[in-house]
Amino acid sequence: MRILLVEDDALLASGLLLALQRAHYATEHVADGEAAVRALADNSFDLVILDLGLPLLDGTGVIDALRKRGNAIPVLVLSARDATRDRIHALDLGADDYLVKPFDLDELLARIRVLERRRSGLPVNQLQQGELVLDLGSMSVWWQGRQVELQHREIMLLRRLLENPHKVFSRGQLEESLYGWGEGVASNAIDVYVHHLRKKISPDVIKTIRGLGYRFGKVAV
Ligand code: CA
Repeated sequence: MRILLVEDDALLASGLLLALQRAHYATEHVADGEAAVRALADNSFDLVILDLGLPLLDGTGVIDALRKRGNAIPVLVLSARDATRDRIHALDLGADDYLVKPFDLDELLARIRVLERRRSGLPVNQLQQGELVLDLGSMSVWWQGRQVELQHREIMLLRRLLENPHKVFSRGQLEESLYGWGEGVASNAIDVYVHHLRKKISPDVIKTIRGLGYRFGKVAV
């Protein structure tokens, strides 16, 4: 899951980036509304956390621009504006949720999970295929009833594949889900993580589609 954080308060933004990263979300940050609209144009994000009071283009302007373009990406508004009419306005424009600052970090993470669940049609906080379970609350992975110890980026990669188990992801798309803008990526990084996941879970957990990339593999049910 790749998140765009739109927040002009640098201190809050850096704290949130750290917290989202710890929760295993690939997150990018922009500090104004126009940059947000540009960043969202290529549809590579799965969720937007959006401040309303922003330079260049207000948060409501961002929502409006997205929805007019037919972009249905989930938008979670995070704003100090706590008047009921502000909340109603943002929700009516197309925001999916609204959290008033100051907010509790755990509540923000829970609301992100709700949007994540809704997006993937999940009834519970888990991604599951056969005997493989990824618990989105604790970010723990279970295979055939036992917990598997995975590193941060291994979990991120597995989650990306499990979110769309029939989709083939190119190496570039997977790198984008695992690394931030400007982060150096070793050319074989994805192959290394795929190797680790196959070793720790099952050789069949990830399928290589020659010339195209990877997709989730059939695991025993
Ligand atoms: Ca602001």
